[in-house]
Amino acid sequence: MAGPSPQADPRAELRELAPWQRPLRADFPIVAANPELAYLDSAATGQKPRQVLDAVYTYLTTSNANAGRGSYPWANATTALVAGAAERVREFLGDRSAKAEAGAGAGRGAAGPSSVHFTGGTTEGLRTVARDWLPQLLRDGDEIVVPFGDHRANLDPWLEARDLLAARGVRIAVRELPCQAGTGDYDARALAALAGPRTRFVAATHVHHVYGADMNVHRIREAVGPDVPICLDAAQSVGHQPVSAADLDVDFLVFSGHKALALPGTGAVWARGERGPAFRPGGWAGTPNTAGIASLAAALDWLEAAGVERIARWTAALASVLTDGLSRMPAYEVLGCRSSLAAGTAVQRRGSIVTFRHQGIGSQDLGFILFSHGFMVRSDDHCQAGRDPRDGSVRVSLHVYNTLEEMEKLLTALAKLQ
Ligand code: PMP
Repeated sequence: MAGPSPQADPRAELRELAPWQRPLRADFPIVAANPELAYLDSAATGQKPRQVLDAVYTYLTTSNANAGRGSYPWANATTALVAGAAERVREFLGDRSAKAEAGAGAGRGAAGPSSVHFTGGTTEGLRTVARDWLPQLLRDGDEIVVPFGDHRANLDPWLEARDLLAARGVRIAVRELPCQAGTGDYDARALAALAGPRTRFVAATHVHHVYGADMNVHRIREAVGPDVPICLDAAQSVGHQPVSAADLDVDFLVFSGHKALALPGTGAVWARGERGPAFRPGGWAGTPNTAGIASLAAALDWLEAAGVERIARWTAALASVLTDGLSRMPAYEVLGCRSSLAAGTAVQRRGSIVTFRHQGIGSQDLGFILFSHGFMVRSDDHCQAGRDPRDGSVRVSLHVYNTLEEMEKLLTALAKLQ
């Protein structure tokens, strides 16, 4: 699904949306308690609305027990909570089979073709797919295509799977998902040329965690044909913009609940279950993070009630104000997605993330300076695969609680540092 389309004037869009945004911002206790600080690191983890915290408190003070074990009321309630949360995830991700099968059970051992497996985050989710599902798909001489310049969480597990298979005498080739020079977009044409009869699997990222670009993953299906399973790292899109697994036609959609306003240590793998072997996360699962799962269901409820499409418009407009301002300051270089800086198209492809460098001030130093002005940004290599840890930049990442005032103050502080 394409990202939000920009209005010519992002400030006008922000003015229009302000009456909607203001009460939503007030839902975040940590934001309300720290009006002098601006949290600009939501790509790392999101802040939590009161309704999510309340749901956790209610669960822990009314029916806390283990799930899938025991038959007394609290245990049954917890089992139902986990199954209900899995159903919630399926619906939220535009799984069209979800509604039809509501009540048929979900989660591990779901009756329907798709399933939801709860994890601690995207890293664990991708590794689970790589470890427990991918090896069954692959034979000696097969190829997989994965991104080499996205988050390390979407490279290391595939390389580990290759090494695991090699130790068993099965040699597979790992090819780089091609990117266009300059924009950082995936190059669908080059992918179509690269994909051959031995291409069995593609991993991709929905929204880039450094460049903020929607990577146009809907083109991947066209490029590789109808039979190749695709695994999507949706860590930076779920909870930020509408995401439809059906429209994207992917087979795995992996995300971090904690970036989508749920508690730390939450995330999920949604598996379509139609291409390749069935997804059965291996081994004895142990006790699930029931409080975290309760928080995830509550977070998805909150996001849906707030309106994910409007959240995407809000953060894209804020990002546009920031990129426009930075493009007028020659001391700064905005990374990635360069076309988005062209006049009138400021946020065409950029969602809620803006990453930049200062010509003369190191990124770590810039991060410290910005914090002295109350801005909490990320300033390092952002766990990007293939990057030297010293090759840093400053990342501003936004969510619904951020404001135009914060962007303007940030631009003022950045202008002074020119
Ligand atoms: N993929 C992307 C695109 C990310 O932005 C992140 C988090 N920065 C991850 C994977 C890893 O997520 P987690 O830390 O929740 O495992």
